[in-house]
Amino acid sequence: MRVPDLAGLIGNTPLLKLRKLSEQAGCEIYGKCEFMNPGGSIKDRTALGIVRSAIASGALQPGGTIVEGTAGNTGIGLTILANSMGFGTRIVMPMNQSREKIEQLELLGAQLELVQSTSYDDPNHYIHRAKAIAGKLNEENPGSAFCAGQFDNTANRDMHYQSTGQEIWDQTDGEVDAFVCSVGTGGTLAGVSRALREKNPKVKIGLADPEGSALFNYFSSGDLLFEGSSIAEGIGISHITENLAGTEIDIPMQITDAEALPLIYDLLRFEGICLGGSSAINMAGALRMAEEMGPGHTIVTILCDYGTRYQSKIYNPVFLKSKGLPVPDWL
Ligand code: PMP
Repeated sequence: MRVPDLAGLIGNTPLLKLRKLSEQAGCEIYGKCEFMNPGGSIKDRTALGIVRSAIASGALQPGGTIVEGTAGNTGIGLTILANSMGFGTRIVMPMNQSREKIEQLELLGAQLELVQSTSYDDPNHYIHRAKAIAGKLNEENPGSAFCAGQFDNTANRDMHYQSTGQEIWDQTDGEVDAFVCSVGTGGTLAGVSRALREKNPKVKIGLADPEGSALFNYFSSGDLLFEGSSIAEGIGISHITENLAGTEIDIPMQITDAEALPLIYDLLRFEGICLGGSSAINMAGALRMAEEMGPGHTIVTILCDYGTRYQSKIYNPVFLKSKGLPVPDWL
């Protein structure tokens, strides 16, 4: 494959059969290898979708600054794209995210602001702070900044509808019975589910929600309530984003870290792939979906990002013990 620029490296990721999970479930379970994108995560697609639509609408002007509030991965995707297209980036991120993501953003050249991790209704929340920065830049120099707004900018969902969902349909030859993943902005779940249901309305859609997120309760009882917490970064929200709005979920599931993490430890130990925490939640969701649907089905989930991004946390026995989580004997 020959590509003209960085954007050409985004998407068209392989679909990997998850051997142990499939054997355990009696189903064919596949993971979409989003960690193979050039920025190392699924969020490169979101970044590309948002940047392309902003250039087309004129919201992002040549040489302008892209501002975004992010758990890190969207910031990484936006920064590599910005570098390749002649834009700048201002990235706002909660300081409790992994130091590997923070260091990577610094390496890539993002102008980074770390803020306290607070609730969404706090005006200092990273999402609101990013909007305020873009507003101030535009006040000083009209048209100089564009806030990507991944949570409510539906160019995010549209990108997954056009690319991720279509790829999954093609790669399974239309034989996919179910799709399941967790939600950060909801762009992936909303876009992929719309694409697959359009092809086959019988495709079942599962939500794998970590503890500390309100979506499991919302989709099972209508209440945006949450309890507990998760060490998985980039997923779990307490409000309904524009991207997620209108998405129909067949099977909402709440997944604990203790249930999910052993799956990525085994995947590394026995299948050689090292993944982050959201992929663990997704894999556990796929397994539960398989149990619910019975043997013989084809189930697809997302392998969101590579595990080295969390080496100091998820792959660190001291950190795991401090959270009361099980540590694999070989780690
Ligand atoms: N996993 C990781 C590691 C992420 O960074 C994100 C995005 N924040 C997601 C999953 C969720 O993807 P989406 O925003 O499309 O819901």
